[in-house]
Amino acid sequence: MRIILFGSPGVGKGTQAKIISNTLNIPHISTGDILRQAVEEQTPLGIAAQSAMKKGELVSDEIMISLIRDNLIQSKCSNGFILDGFPRNLLQAKELDELFDQLKINDARIVIISANEEEIVRRLTNRRACKNCSNILNYNDIKGLTACPICGAEESFYQRNDDKEDVIRNRLRIYKEATEPVLTYFQDKKNEIYINGLLTIDEVTKNIIDELEKAKGNKVIA
Ligand SMILES: [Zn+2]
Repeated sequence: MRIILFGSPGVGKGTQAKIISNTLNIPHISTGDILRQAVEEQTPLGIAAQSAMKKGELVSDEIMISLIRDNLIQSKCSNGFILDGFPRNLLQAKELDELFDQLKINDARIVIISANEEEIVRRLTNRRACKNCSNILNYNDIKGLTACPICGAEESFYQRNDDKEDVIRNRLRIYKEATEPVLTYFQDKKNEIYINGLLTIDEVTKNIIDELEKAKGNKVIA
């Protein structure tokens, strides 16, 4: 099963990527992780990426696609993979398409975890963090409490900058602007699966697996 995973901020994309990777026994290829790994191992691509980052530049599409290629051709990916964090723009989408052609990959599924924007904003702005233990709690669960239910610290709740409404709306806007042309591009291939990201983690996982099964025409897990 070859999957390209998309998810708007606040829908738990990273969590689902890990669960799906374990459930289907396919590697989770996160562009952030493979980039860090290449830099750590000081591979030629890692060195090139590091030099760009040191200059404060973005790592080029060319380096990213080469890193992805290096991963996809490894034997660990022979039964599939879940690609997370790429493509982020239309050019990258086209390059990935070309790479898939070269590698004779023609069965990749696009899984898009999405949710109503107002609902995401409501959820994320409801988050509170504990200054003492750093755990994230839901405002509704701690309403009226003065002490953290996890570590017991008094008056320790605060709203992180990342959970403030204008910051969330800005991230959603950036995601939408970057991803929409990519999804439009893949739409023509009729291989995308839309998943409602506002259910429980278990329900989202189940829906993804079910939809992948349907799309494949046979069972994904034995
Ligand atoms: Zn705490």
